Amino acid sequence: MQSCLRDHSLEFRLLGSGHGMAPPGRVNAELQASRANMAVGAPHLQTRLPASHNARMTVRERVAKLVKAWPKVYPNAHCELDFRNPLELLVATILSAQCTDKRVNMVTPTLFKKYRTAKDYANASQAEFESAIKSTGFYRSKTKSIRAAMRAIAEEHGGKVPDTMEELNALPGVGRKTANVVLGNAFHKNEGIVVDTHVIRLSQRLGLTKHKDAEKIERDLMKLVPHEHWTDWSHWLIWHGRRRCYARRPDCSNCEVFRLCPSGKVFLQTGVAKKPVPSRCVFL
Ligand code: SF4
Repeated sequence: MQSCLRDHSLEFRLLGSGHGMAPPGRVNAELQASRANMAVGAPHLQTRLPASHNARMTVRERVAKLVKAWPKVYPNAHCELDFRNPLELLVATILSAQCTDKRVNMVTPTLFKKYRTAKDYANASQAEFESAIKSTGFYRSKTKSIRAAMRAIAEEHGGKVPDTMEELNALPGVGRKTANVVLGNAFHKNEGIVVDTHVIRLSQRLGLTKHKDAEKIERDLMKLVPHEHWTDWSHWLIWHGRRRCYARRPDCSNCEVFRLCPSGKVFLQTGVAKKPVPSRCVFL
């Protein structure tokens, strides 16, 4: 009992008490209307909010409330890749493709000890480097990308990782997402928003985009999220995606931003969400 009550009171602290739940009958009618207009988990949610999630609130207002709520939910949200400088972060980010940050953090201490400069990476033996990063997966293409990017950094940027989107994006194997990670976390520049699998999923569930393509989602988010929070925003969504809003069974009954999410109630009602314990959860 304690955990649900504790979470719920946290939610009230975070979101205020002005968004009361609608009576069950009304909720059901709203849910039926919602279901008629969308598939569960589909991103077409922002125009069909159940009233229990405050239909009068615009998407922009919800984002404003989320921006206030997230720092209380995740006061320590940060990039979970270990690094000490932009070069290390660039390497770690390339390694993190299709791999967990935890696994990357297991590989990088040895790597960072052996390869310290862009030239070190550029001159590394392909076979030796592949073997060092093998456990992160896709090790052949990652090795090629890292060596090519580092060669360009050594030859064209004096060995220093560039700090603009244009220059980073021009490095071999460095896409917009990687560039955003480096700019936001190593240079503290909000030039864009990192859109990974968690940010895609949560942006759709929170009704902030109807797109599936990462660059289009980033454009939608950049219009909604205040510029000073662009880097934080991806940390918040990634942390929530890893800790609560799982891909398969989101933990909606304990979600700290339940009342700001148009998908939560639908997921609970349809069984998409992790099974709540009715006697313990005040949401139902
Ligand atoms: S209510 Fe559920 S779907 Fe919405 S953010 Fe929370 S965990 Fe994710």
